[in-house]
Amino acid sequence: MLTLAFKPYDLRLKHVFRISRGSRSNAPLMLTRLSFEGIHGYGEASMPVLYGESLATATAFLNQVDLSGFADPFDTERILQYIDSLAPGNTAVKASLDIALHDLIGKLLQLPVHRYFGLPAAQPYTSMTIGVDTPDEMAKKALKYNEFRYLKIKLGTADDRAMITAIRSVTQQPFFIDANQGWKNKEEALELIHWLKAQGTVFIEQPMPREDITGNAWLTERSPLPTVGDEAVQRLADISRASSTYHGINIKLMKCTGIREGFKMAVTAKALGMKVMLGCMTETSCAISAAAQLAGLADWVDLDGHLDTVNNPYTGIGLSEGQLVPTGEPGIGITPGPAEIF
Ligand code: MG
Repeated sequence: MLTLAFKPYDLRLKHVFRISRGSRSNAPLMLTRLSFEGIHGYGEASMPVLYGESLATATAFLNQVDLSGFADPFDTERILQYIDSLAPGNTAVKASLDIALHDLIGKLLQLPVHRYFGLPAAQPYTSMTIGVDTPDEMAKKALKYNEFRYLKIKLGTADDRAMITAIRSVTQQPFFIDANQGWKNKEEALELIHWLKAQGTVFIEQPMPREDITGNAWLTERSPLPTVGDEAVQRLADISRASSTYHGINIKLMKCTGIREGFKMAVTAKALGMKVMLGCMTETSCAISAAAQLAGLADWVDLDGHLDTVNNPYTGIGLSEGQLVPTGEPGIGITPGPAEIF
C-alpha cells in the first residue's frame, strides 16, 4: 500500500531576495513523503505567490489524495494522471507527489532517477542568481559568487544598464539575463538585448509580459540572443504555442507538476528545435536534486535555489567549483538531515 505523509516547512534565506515584481526572505514549503513496503520517497512543494498556491491550498489538495486504488507504485503514469485530475492548477503540490513517487521507485529499483529515464549522470554547471538590488550591492554579490561559471542577473527595472555595468566592472563571468516580464516596450527591449550581448550575455529569459505574445514573438524574431519563456510556459500543453514565441523554455518542476512532465517537456521542446533550460524556485536539496535528474536534457541549468538557504533539511546534490555533483544514490539521491521531519 502507498501511504502519504506531509508537513509544512519554513525554508529561510540568508538574504532578502528581490526581483522586478517583489521580494522575500523565506519560502513556505510543503514536504511530502510516499511510503511503500517500508521504503520512503521524499518530495517537496515550493509555492511562489505568483502561481497562486499556498500552504492552505496544498493542505486542502493533499487531504483529497486517496492512493488506496493503486497497489503498485510502478503504475506511475496512472497515479500521476489521477493526481493531476483532482483539481486544476496546484502544480507545485502535484510536483511534490511526483518527486516523492520517483524517489520511491528509484529506491525500489536501486537506480538514480536519471537512469530510469534513460539519461546519463550529469554534473552541470549551474548559474548563481543575483536578485534586484543597488548596482553596488549586485557587484558585491558577483564577487562572492566567483566560483560559478555563469551569473544569472535579475533585470526588468529602470536601472538595468547601471546594474550590468557595475557587475561587469568586477567580473568576466557570462550572464544569463532574466527580465521577469519587466520590459514593456519591444523596441527598447531589442536595443537593450543588443547591448547585453556586447556585455557577454548567453540568453534572455522572459523579456516581456507573458500575455504579450506578439511582443515576445517580435523580439524573438529579431533578437541577437536566444529568448527563453519562463512565466509564459508552465506545462507540456504550453510548448506548441511557445515554439513560435521563444527560442527556448525554462522547465521548473514546481510549474509543470514534476519530473515526469518535465521530462516530456524537454523531449518535446527538443523535437521542436527549442532550447531547454532547467530552473527552480527557492527549494531544499530535495526538489533541486530531483530537477538535476533531467540535466542530461538541458542546454542551460539554473538550479541554485537551495544554495543561499539557512535550514535545508536534506543533504543531497553537492557543489564543486560551480558544478552540481549528484550523490549517485538511488532515487533522487537525498538523505533527511539530523532533524526529524516526519
Ligand atoms: Mg525566470
